[in-house]
Amino acid sequence: MKTVSKIEDIRKELNKARMDGLRIGFVPTMGFLHEGHLSLVRKCRDENDIVVVSIFVNPAQFGAGEDLDSYPSDIKRDTALLEAAGTNILFLPEREEIYPEGFSTNISVAGVSDGLCGRSRPGHFDGVCTVVTKLLNIVQPERAYFGEKDYQQLQVIKRLARDLNIPSEIIGGSIIREDDGLAMSSRNVYLTPEQRESALSLNRSFKVVQDALKEGVEDVSELRADVEEFINSHEYARIDYIEFVDPEFLRPVRKIEGDFLMALAVYVGKARLIDNNYFEVQK
Ligand code: AMP
Repeated sequence: MKTVSKIEDIRKELNKARMDGLRIGFVPTMGFLHEGHLSLVRKCRDENDIVVVSIFVNPAQFGAGEDLDSYPSDIKRDTALLEAAGTNILFLPEREEIYPEGFSTNISVAGVSDGLCGRSRPGHFDGVCTVVTKLLNIVQPERAYFGEKDYQQLQVIKRLARDLNIPSEIIGGSIIREDDGLAMSSRNVYLTPEQRESALSLNRSFKVVQDALKEGVEDVSELRADVEEFINSHEYARIDYIEFVDPEFLRPVRKIEGDFLMALAVYVGKARLIDNNYFEVQK
């Protein structure tokens, strides 16, 4: 595996591969890797000839008071994990390489980025879209991989790629969970053992919804109230949002009439955790 920090150098490296007719796959990350990231790397390796992974903690997607400065990092460990998972090139740029002096462009996707995390983290998806556009332009992969853990991000990036004719296929990977169901996240390290117990309220709330659906509940305000009550019964959990939306455009649904996505964000201690579940509904 080669580690490259300059745009010019990765371009040269990848141009060579492209000339040899090799298919390039790409997994962008912010590092402090876990099985969630590595599952995307393996999928990428299975479907392409060259695997490129980037690690870049993108300041543009963090709001004031968020954890940009304390975001966990262990490049040595990440490097070993990526090497073992079959990565060919690790792109590890400095901030100035991505945002040189005078950088003035912002990419904004309307609609699908408005609700959920877009509402509670203003500017977040502009930061994501701007950096992802840059990374896709730098790497120019045939395929790029994003986790369904960040379901809204995946939909936003699909929209972005379609709207801007970015010639990379955007591929989603399923959510990887710990044995007890907690969605893997780099931010889980912030949790104390007591807080980690409260963090299970996110994934366990899907069962609350499933049970209510079985009982015939169709009214979303009733489902939301059940989930709120359940999550609030956990000492360290503080709800940011609980939303029931259609899985493509992420518009709120009021009555369950078909497949839907439940997405939620909950603060547990200083960690803001997100999770989601796709519910198939037979009607
Ligand atoms: P991050 O480093 O948090 O920006 O994540 C990089 C990529 O890994 C994103 O596409 C995430 O959606 C994906 N990812 C993070 N956690 C998980 C998980 N538990 N399961 C699947 N994909 C994940």
